[in-house]
Amino acid sequence: MQKIIPYGKQSITEDDINDVIETLKSDYLTQGPRIAEFEERFADYVQSDYAVAVSNGTAALHLCALALGVKEGDKVITTPITFAASANCVRYCGGEVVFADIDPDTYLLDIKAVRKLLESAPKGTYKGVIPVDFAGRAVDMEAFRELANEYDLWIIEDSCHAPGGFFNDSKGEKQYCGNGNFADLSIFSFHPVKHIASGEGGMITTNNKVLYEKLMQLRTHGIIKDNDLYVNSIELAGGENDYPGWYMEMQDLGFNYRITDFQAALGASQLKRADEGLKKRKEIARVYTEALKDKDYIKSCSGNINGHAYHLFILEVENRLGLYNFLGKNNIFAQIHYIPCHLMPYYQNLGWKEGDMPNAENYYKHCISLPVFPVLTEEEQLYVIQKINSFYGE
Ligand SMILES: *Cc1c(COP(=O)(O)O)cnc(C)c1O
Repeated sequence: MQKIIPYGKQSITEDDINDVIETLKSDYLTQGPRIAEFEERFADYVQSDYAVAVSNGTAALHLCALALGVKEGDKVITTPITFAASANCVRYCGGEVVFADIDPDTYLLDIKAVRKLLESAPKGTYKGVIPVDFAGRAVDMEAFRELANEYDLWIIEDSCHAPGGFFNDSKGEKQYCGNGNFADLSIFSFHPVKHIASGEGGMITTNNKVLYEKLMQLRTHGIIKDNDLYVNSIELAGGENDYPGWYMEMQDLGFNYRITDFQAALGASQLKRADEGLKKRKEIARVYTEALKDKDYIKSCSGNINGHAYHLFILEVENRLGLYNFLGKNNIFAQIHYIPCHLMPYYQNLGWKEGDMPNAENYYKHCISLPVFPVLTEEEQLYVIQKINSFYGE
């Protein structure tokens, strides 16, 4: 009996386990030294100036929206082909989500569609844009920065699928997803299906010091502990010549979105293998591409793209439902990414409907994500390919 092959899964090594155990035996369960270490290493990995670790990717998005000041009625543009959290963070702050369609070739938010929206409204109508490095393919953030500057928008890059992914800018330089050169803020998730697993976990990266400090504050209730920044007087604080040792101030309405020290230890340990894992993902993508690209039942196959981080390997096929069910019967659990966000009943209740995003909806009719993860064996991958071919009568 073939063992179950999911579309994605984590791998935990002895080193990971030992690092977590060591942290559990230390003085800190949360807010300890492993968090800062994870942040520093992660910033290094994506080449950003700052990183803020948080409890999950959704919390990261929420904090970004808060730090950028999203408020009631603010209009923000994003893609319908993403996990709902990319859009929901705007709603958490009372803002309005405006979807723009995808480019049918890249599956990424179509910059031409975004430009069209911006041109059709008075300047200042839109506050920000949230492009997603969907499937691991890097958005051309340089182009988005140019557009954002023209219309005075901020950018949150949802890089959950793309640690280690990059695009080449107009000067031919590698620009890593989340490096902060173009986006104001980028976010990552360490959910077990993502490249780096910490159980639950997330990260925000940025090159903006003001936003960085704001995020650090919002992550822990909006509280600061810094004598130079207090609003209340020393007397009101209960001190005489200086603020007393216990004193702190809650200056903003923040949240408890902290990650624990042992999760950070797991994340930091996993990060050491990130390059190795990425290489494996690219190799798996190469093998799928070679095996499937010329088959007439495959409409499209996202193989061998420079800088792609291959969180997902996506095919567009005829009879997607049939293939999905057939693979499932053979213990291969492919997945569909994503049900277009604007068709979720919650967003339909806000006025979105079928037909609004034709490229996304057409993509959704045919897409299927095949198993890609670093511990997928060669044998397992060949079995997946063989089952796909046999479904289509080969
Ligand atoms: C996983 C994911 C998120 C949310 O991350 P969590 O850690 O699960 O909260 C957001 N956006 C995208 C694109 C994701 O894939």
